[in-house]
Amino acid sequence: MDFKLTDEQELIVDSYREYMESENWETYFHECDEKHEYPLRWVAGLCELGFDQIMLPESHGGLGLEQPCVTLMAVYEVLGRYGAPTYVLYQLPGFETIIREGTPEQIDAVMSTLGSGEQIWNSACTEPGAGSDVSALATTYKRENGKIYLNGTKTFITSSAGVKYLVIMAKNADDESVFTEFFVDMSKPGVKLSPLPKLGLRMDSCCEVYLDNVELEESDIFGKEGNGFMRGVSDFNFERWLVGACDYGTAICAFEDAMKHANTRTAFGKPISRFQLNQLKITEMCIKLTNMRNMLYEAAWMADNAGGEFDAAMAAMCKYYCANASFEVTDDAMQVMGGIAVASEHRINRIWRDLRVDRVSGGTDEMMILATSKGASIKYRQ
Ligand SMILES: Cc1cc2nc3c(=O)[nH]c(=O)nc-3n(C[C@H](O)[C@H](O)[C@H](O)COP(=O)(O)OP(=O)(O)OC[C@H]3O[C@@H](n4cnc5c(N)ncnc54)[C@H](O)[C@@H]3O)c2cc1C
Repeated sequence: MDFKLTDEQELIVDSYREYMESENWETYFHECDEKHEYPLRWVAGLCELGFDQIMLPESHGGLGLEQPCVTLMAVYEVLGRYGAPTYVLYQLPGFETIIREGTPEQIDAVMSTLGSGEQIWNSACTEPGAGSDVSALATTYKRENGKIYLNGTKTFITSSAGVKYLVIMAKNADDESVFTEFFVDMSKPGVKLSPLPKLGLRMDSCCEVYLDNVELEESDIFGKEGNGFMRGVSDFNFERWLVGACDYGTAICAFEDAMKHANTRTAFGKPISRFQLNQLKITEMCIKLTNMRNMLYEAAWMADNAGGEFDAAMAAMCKYYCANASFEVTDDAMQVMGGIAVASEHRINRIWRDLRVDRVSGGTDEMMILATSKGASIKYRQ
């Protein structure tokens, strides 16, 4: 399989490389991470380059690329290499979901922000009593006097302090087998937020979201009534692959920082890269980076050849492998860097914190294992 980029893709990647080299972004990322702030200035610049148009069809202002997934992969790779917090970008390539499922008003609301870099939407499934088992959710909706009322609590909701809209999954209070999603304007009465502290991914917010009799209209339903569970789950495959792509790019940054250090730091009269115990780590890091790269590009290439659909088992395998391999690469890189990695403000300790979260958020390792093995078993079932 040939993963060579086309001339057009090379030009796109070059434009992001130039952007990352246009200033010392690390100072800005460090500030945003410390203040727990969304790096809007950086994301707005990416959107000027067309980042949020990569996955969109031309009919909605997209770039109309032949291989959008492979292109997105290459962009994540170059951004990650520069230590960029690509995890704040997850919702931008996902505008395509809004086009597929939204009403014209919902589509307009989201698409009017195209190019701005602002956080506009995210989806909210998880609840205090329903994490891996999404079907156990207890948020309900009920119709009364021509209105719909939403009640419940969502937790660990990414970007919720910054977005204008949340797509919220709920059960019909009169028939709990019916799952429906709602496109909820966050400024509505009855919506309250309580920020949650977290180990990493600090440039994006994460809150508990309380829904106290939030009044909605029929037009606030997102997609078809009763199809909420299937709609929510249908996005999982793309998201899982995307987390893998983000983790891989970030791990390259950790590896390259460690290699620069290993070649310049001397101990016992020679560069520390010459010690066999460090050479083993360097070799393991190279193997993991190569495996991640091949797996992610292959999954992207397969999706581009399947109309943008990611295979469920392949996507779960990408997330499981890359969340773990990228963390191991970063952990080894820290070890190679010694004290400076753990007792300084070096970006590697931000990267380490960020990557650890991804073994849980977006679906845990254990759920990825179940999904990968299920896909493999189905293939060989007689
Ligand atoms: C930083 C962050 C951001 C998030 N953002 C969002 C968001 O934007 N929107 C959203 O809806 N959710 C979000 N989540 C929620 C995330 O998807 C859940 O945390 C995750 O699915 C796990 O749910 P849980 O935390 O309730 O753990 P649980 O489901 O309680 O699981 C606890 C442990 O048990 C294991 N386990 C559970 N069931 C099984 C099983 N059948 N077999 C084997 N092991 C099992 C799990 O793998 C895990 O190790 C976010 C979470 C975090 C941490």
